[in-house]
Amino acid sequence: MEEARRIQALPPYLFARIDEKIAEAKAKGVDVISLGIGDPDLPTPDHIIDKLVKAARNPVNHRYPSYAGMLEFRQAVAEWYKRRSNIVIDPQKEVVSLIGSKEGIAHIAFCYLNPGDIALIPDPGYPVYGVGTALAGGVPYALPLKEENGFLPELDRIPEEIAHKAKLMFLNYPNNPTGAIADESFYMKVIAFAKKYDIIICHDGPYSEIAFNGYKPLSFLEVPGAKDVGIEFHSMSKTYNMTGWRIGWAAGNARVIEALGRIKSNIDTGVFQAIQEAAIEGLLGNQDIIGENRKIYQERQDIVIEGLTALGWTVESPKATIYVWPRVPKGFTSASFCELVLDKTGVVITPGNSYGEYGEGYFRISLTTNTKRLREALQRLQDNFGKFEF
Ligand SMILES: *Cc1c(COP(=O)(O)O)cnc(C)c1O
Repeated sequence: MEEARRIQALPPYLFARIDEKIAEAKAKGVDVISLGIGDPDLPTPDHIIDKLVKAARNPVNHRYPSYAGMLEFRQAVAEWYKRRSNIVIDPQKEVVSLIGSKEGIAHIAFCYLNPGDIALIPDPGYPVYGVGTALAGGVPYALPLKEENGFLPELDRIPEEIAHKAKLMFLNYPNNPTGAIADESFYMKVIAFAKKYDIIICHDGPYSEIAFNGYKPLSFLEVPGAKDVGIEFHSMSKTYNMTGWRIGWAAGNARVIEALGRIKSNIDTGVFQAIQEAAIEGLLGNQDIIGENRKIYQERQDIVIEGLTALGWTVESPKATIYVWPRVPKGFTSASFCELVLDKTGVVITPGNSYGEYGEGYFRISLTTNTKRLREALQRLQDNFGKFEF
């Protein structure tokens, strides 16, 4: 039963490993507070659930769904972009449904990478960009995201021969794990770079609706020229608290959408239609949840920033996302710091190097825990450590 080389090299998914550590601590009787995984703890709004319940009773929905997604779902995605960003997306040709955006992110590499072709991936970054690339036989090339550059990649530092061999570039703003944002001038540079080297841009934007103090993140697709060079992955998961439902989409360049749809139609058979109907309700129905989420995450972010400040950190409040990305104190690596914190306090934080080598020296706090537990987590840190040095 020897495994194929492509999976021998595959580490267990990041959070599978962290889950094991949590289970060990819990088995020892530790009251673990997890600030690890970015999985919203808040419930899906009732009106979306009601729609699912109703749609689940309709036998029409019990059959195989259409591969590309119901036209009504794709129309809802197009309408959502129109309302949000005043852009025109063709629901027939420029949208495909996904079984969560993770699925599409992993499959896009199979559409465009021949063995040895390069995909440019942000480092630190969501692990799926690199893993999908490697599974498809491609070679991930890291674009360092450095604090001094606002965690934006420096495109002019990509060597010419790498740029020529690259077929895909993954980008993700508002960014997981750094909380960084990107503005239009950055995206304009990205689009020019993509045109120059014939690279497809895969922008991953699941946090576009989780922003603070009136800041409104750009959708990549609203930047002029974006549709010429790429697509945007998006998802119901973070915006509507629907991570468990597994529904997302890709939208943008029609040829790329068609290719992604073609590979998917040979592997999966789409999303349960009742879930698509519920997602339509989510996209076009009452949008109060977006404001409610922002308020909740803002309050949590404030607790974390205040707590870290009291512990000796100087951290800026991220303008978006459900993450805070502080440096580790002097004398620690990401791993040694996170391990010490777990051992001493039962608080789980994610070591930055698990998002790539340029994440070393940082850790990630996820704001997916209620205010009471968050306060408790920061209190435990203060009780055990007083103040840190940097
Ligand atoms: C959560 C997340 C996703 C995946 O979302 P799903 O649609 O639930 O698969 C994709 N990219 C990033 C950066 C994420 O943080």
